[in-house]
Amino acid sequence: MTRRAWIALGSNLGDSAALLNLALNAIAKLPQTQLQAVSARYRTAPIGGPEQGDFLNSACRIDTNLAPLDLLHALQRIELDAGRERHEHWGPRTLDLDLIAVDNVAQTDPELTLPHPRAHQRAFVLYPLADLNTDLMLAGRPVIDWLDSVADQAIERLAD
Ligand code: ATP
Ligand code: CA
Ligand code: CA
Repeated sequence: MTRRAWIALGSNLGDSAALLNLALNAIAKLPQTQLQAVSARYRTAPIGGPEQGDFLNSACRIDTNLAPLDLLHALQRIELDAGRERHEHWGPRTLDLDLIAVDNVAQTDPELTLPHPRAHQRAFVLYPLADLNTDLMLAGRPVIDWLDSVADQAIERLAD
């Protein structure tokens, strides 16, 4: 079964622009998967966690026949290949790939909660998703309906 999935990408360590390129190339090469759309890139201030540099964020939409958990594991493999090490929670990282939603799959497994339970609170997820012209619903509302509620979060859309 082919499903649409939305992935949020973030990096604030190393060459973040190159790491996002690497991640998108790797996502495009996943088995049984087609990369369908990629958002603009955004610079965002980190929220929570320790003092750390700004993030570069983006989002993409894929079509995939991978099961949601297999897709998550594939994304985690890409994170590791990009040199990600796990230190402090919400600390700086070379690459973070969050699975935001997989069609209308709804589950609360701690290993994979769908849709991502914090996506609708984050400008750095919502703005890139909005670029994808998505009808995706998060926490009961379409993506664009959440944008006003994150107006206090600093985010800068970067030129192509
Ligand atoms: P946040 O989830 O708040 O953005 P984070 O990205 O820093 O935090 P990680 O350390 O990358 O958190 O991931 C912690 C765990 O979250 C992972 O081991 C993974 O199994 C789990 N997880 C649950 N739901 C999802 C999801 N939708 N996408 C990615 N990881 C998820
Ligand atoms: Ca994250
Ligand atoms: Ca993550």
